[in-house]
Amino acid sequence: LLKVEHLNKAYGTKQVLHDINFSVTPGSVTVLLGPSGSGKSTLIRCLNGLEEFQSGQLSFEDQPIKPTPKTWQQLRQKIGMVFQSYDLFPNLTVIDNILLGPLKVQKRSKTEALKQATQLLKEVDLTDYADAFPRQLSGGQKQRIAIVRALALNPEFMLFDEVTASLDPEMVRGVLEVMLNLAKRKMTMLVVTHEMNFAQQIADNVLFLEDGAILEKTQGKQFFTHPQTDRAREFLDSMA
Ligand code: ATP
Ligand code: MG
Repeated sequence: LLKVEHLNKAYGTKQVLHDINFSVTPGSVTVLLGPSGSGKSTLIRCLNGLEEFQSGQLSFEDQPIKPTPKTWQQLRQKIGMVFQSYDLFPNLTVIDNILLGPLKVQKRSKTEALKQATQLLKEVDLTDYADAFPRQLSGGQKQRIAIVRALALNPEFMLFDEVTASLDPEMVRGVLEVMLNLAKRKMTMLVVTHEMNFAQQIADNVLFLEDGAILEKTQGKQFFTHPQTDRAREFLDSMA
């Protein structure tokens, strides 16, 4: 579904991604792990056109991505993203937040988009909050709405960057469950997380990043039990 070849990225003279190569197959979950500052967010942002990069080739659905604003605008309807800070529009109700993309960007019919939005709200257990404003929601509820808002565009691929990092512990579970359900339904996902149990549960593949380079690329869950490098072992110990 997605292929990354020889991706290099620098901020000024500081190289933050070094020759990144990997691909993501449809229906798989890739977990991106690595110490703070290793380049996880930068990499994820490059995959969504939020960050420019110096060299490298991205392909989506076997098509090379020409990194122009227009291409990214189109691709963002297929590649959904949820961040650590839930960036819902504060002046719109939950349902209007969700419907904005489907109606304004995708020009879908209100009846159809509303039907889907209602179904999605039900799936994240927030049916009663359709007419609430973001400030009336807890962090966990806001984050589930942010996920629903991304899903309402019917993306083929979802990027998650530490979506539970700013939540109170008791809110984390509900958000992770939504992601586990997505994985069960074979949504293709690239996930940055600090929740190691969850990572182990959800990962089909693991990429371990350090200092902007991929140090390990593992299929399945063996990364967690049999890391190949000392650095990965130290990282796992530090998270335990
Ligand atoms: P964390 O786990 O703390 O979120 P990360 O793995 O997501 O870390 P990045 O945010 O991608 O790391 O940062 C990678 C490197 O790039 C860091 O050294 C960081 O200081 C640097 N960096 C990130 N954003 C910028 C920016 N806008 N300008 C300059 N340097 C940046
Ligand atoms: Mg980050």
